[in-house]
Amino acid sequence: MEIKITKTTNPKTKPAKGEKLGFGRIFTDHMFIMNYTEGKGWHDARIVPYQKISLDPSAMVFHYGQEMFEGLKAYRGVDGKIRLFRPDMNAKRAAASNERLCIPKIPEDDFVEAIKAIVKVDQDWIPDEEGTSLYIRPFVIATDEFLGVAPSKTYLFIIILSPSGAYYENGLAPVGIWIEDDYVRAVRGGMGFAKTGGNYAASLAAQVKAHDDGYSQVLWLDGVERKYIEEVGAMNIFFKIDGKVVTPMLNGSILPGITRNSVITMCKDMGYEVEERKISVDELIEAAHSGRLEECFGSGTAAVISPVGKLRYVDDVFTINNNEIGELSQKLYDTITGIQWGKGEDKFNWAVIL
Ligand SMILES: *Cc1c(COP(=O)(O)O)cnc(C)c1O
Repeated sequence: MEIKITKTTNPKTKPAKGEKLGFGRIFTDHMFIMNYTEGKGWHDARIVPYQKISLDPSAMVFHYGQEMFEGLKAYRGVDGKIRLFRPDMNAKRAAASNERLCIPKIPEDDFVEAIKAIVKVDQDWIPDEEGTSLYIRPFVIATDEFLGVAPSKTYLFIIILSPSGAYYENGLAPVGIWIEDDYVRAVRGGMGFAKTGGNYAASLAAQVKAHDDGYSQVLWLDGVERKYIEEVGAMNIFFKIDGKVVTPMLNGSILPGITRNSVITMCKDMGYEVEERKISVDELIEAAHSGRLEECFGSGTAAVISPVGKLRYVDDVFTINNNEIGELSQKLYDTITGIQWGKGEDKFNWAVIL
């Protein structure tokens, strides 16, 4: 793929050292953009100054939500090198999301090449304070000017970058999670496994409810029986029960997290028995009340590992591991972040150095 690069003549002021970056509010100087036209395929890959895009109000994405996105990070290592974490997995998942949403596939090599190219152009934007990173947001939108319901014949693939602060300011901290018993996020046969805005739109009402009650995230149950555990807002979920690591199996309605996949590989490597299976909320509550639920944590690119200290289900609220960080949670966090920041051994060759 040939990528034409046009550099900005008017660079922005970068955040000062030590400035609080937060998440997703600051954007770099450039963006990657590529068009799709039916009959022509993906074309005109280019890196241009970060700018607004102009779309017709009838552009299909606004009406029927035909879009997909990805999320990953670039890390400035302790050795000064820039690393990505398993970007090939994002390319594969993007292809699966695209297929579900009738968006033409982006060749996986091109997807990774585009990410590397834009990160290289804006590499001076990668913060280097501990725990910080450059968040990478690739996405595709349907752009046909047409109100009919059908797959669009034109698309834009765009990648934007956002320097982000440390997720944890003072080390890992357990969160409280609301098990949602009314709203559902996705159903089998739907698009739960795809990373697409519609799934997030479906999640907002429950998230608002959980926040109002003081819980930071929602744990979803299956969309049919509202009985089996699926995943958390933007994280997959793991339990340690009786010494075994248990996580819901991928069933079509759960997002296949790259962190999830990495956690499973690492737990097996550490000698844990890992079960990917159905787990009902009743089984979880029974395990919690009988003291067999030893740890619970979420996994995702943003937090890496998020220990869960409290779970709420209808009228039942229970504490896990005394609301403290579990040994396994801490170890997984240290191992994954060790690979990402070049501090520890990369046994599985997951880091891609730019
Ligand atoms: C992105 C995402 C995850 C986590 O995936 P990672 O690849 O580990 O970041 C989990 N659930 C949902 C709904 C997501 O969108």
